[in-house]
Amino acid sequence: GCLIKCSSVSCATPENDTKEPSTTINLDHGDPTMYESYWRKMGNKCDITFNGDDSLSYFANGKSLCWFLESKLEEQIKRLHNVVENAIVDDYYIVVGTGSSQLMQAALYALSPTDQLEPISVVSATPFYSSYPEVTDFVKSGLHKWAGDARTFEKNGLYIEFVTSPNNPDGVIREPVVNGNQGKLIYDLAYYWPQYTAITSPANRDVMLFTISKCTGHAGSRIGWALVKDKEVARKMTKFMEISTIGVSKEAQLRAAKILEVVSDSCLDPKMENFFEYSQSLMTDRWQRLRQVVMANDFFVLQKYPLQYCLFTKDFCESHPAFAWLICKGREEEDCQKLLKEHKIHTRSGRRFGSDLRNVRISMLSRDEDFNIFLQRLMAIRGPTNGN
Ligand code: PMP
Repeated sequence: GCLIKCSSVSCATPENDTKEPSTTINLDHGDPTMYESYWRKMGNKCDITFNGDDSLSYFANGKSLCWFLESKLEEQIKRLHNVVENAIVDDYYIVVGTGSSQLMQAALYALSPTDQLEPISVVSATPFYSSYPEVTDFVKSGLHKWAGDARTFEKNGLYIEFVTSPNNPDGVIREPVVNGNQGKLIYDLAYYWPQYTAITSPANRDVMLFTISKCTGHAGSRIGWALVKDKEVARKMTKFMEISTIGVSKEAQLRAAKILEVVSDSCLDPKMENFFEYSQSLMTDRWQRLRQVVMANDFFVLQKYPLQYCLFTKDFCESHPAFAWLICKGREEEDCQKLLKEHKIHTRSGRRFGSDLRNVRISMLSRDEDFNIFLQRLMAIRGPTNGN
């Protein structure tokens, strides 16, 4: 018999662990391939074509301060935020980037003072997204320097704090934690979409980062955008983009515009399958099944999330984060990443997020096949309390 309730997706049973037993399932990256099933169903709705004489110029012909931003993309970004009500767009400048990863760098550049002898401290509360320390220090800039956990940051003076909400890796809704008034905040809202969490109010922060990667799953297009209140900050971010890549691929921008258009259409046209309803029900199903396995083997603990009213779904929803933040119940020195690796599940250690060895982050965004094998393998791990 099957322990796990199966709904729309096939159940994990030993018979359909079709991968070679020796193949490790890679759930280290948050590669959003689970959305392929939706986009396959959309058929040719998202097709766009380019002629040989299209998009030769470096310049976009919009009127945006961000001179390489395609006006079609700008329009669809604004439209989608208005449909979902997850961010205010009126009176904001939009800066487009090659993923929000590039915009993280642009924002660090734009918010760092240039008249200081010391680089500005960059912090985020643990567990923080593992890219922040890497991005901050990679080129050893004289402008900014990683200073670790925001909760233990005590230096007086200037700092930049990354506030990730919902947070990567643990899915928790966050506010700034440093208690200073000399901080500049970068809100990373990559996961503030209805399939992951309740949309409780439209965000209206000074610098907000979004990405198509986690919204629609088109990570390969490498399109992110920043909503920026202050004109000078937006100008500096645009300058950063100009120096690093002289703009962002127009093909990628126009494809992203089309994808966002179809997502908004799907929310407004009752004849279409609503993208967020579809992805939310997939996530809900995956989380239910994961919780059942975790409860059954009594060896791990998962983060709990509160019920909150969502403006978009007009209902109370629990969070279904893009990552599971799993804690080994075992001994303190238990290396959870290593343990799962021995069971052919590749995850990212809590260490990488400034947390400890007992934690791991597991992507919930893989294809069905890999997710099912993951559950199957997790089910096979027996904790000490199970007597094995
Ligand atoms: N911010 C957060 C919190 C993320 O998890 C990610 C992707 N893992 C990014 C930013 C960057 O995404 P991208 O560069 O694909 O837009």
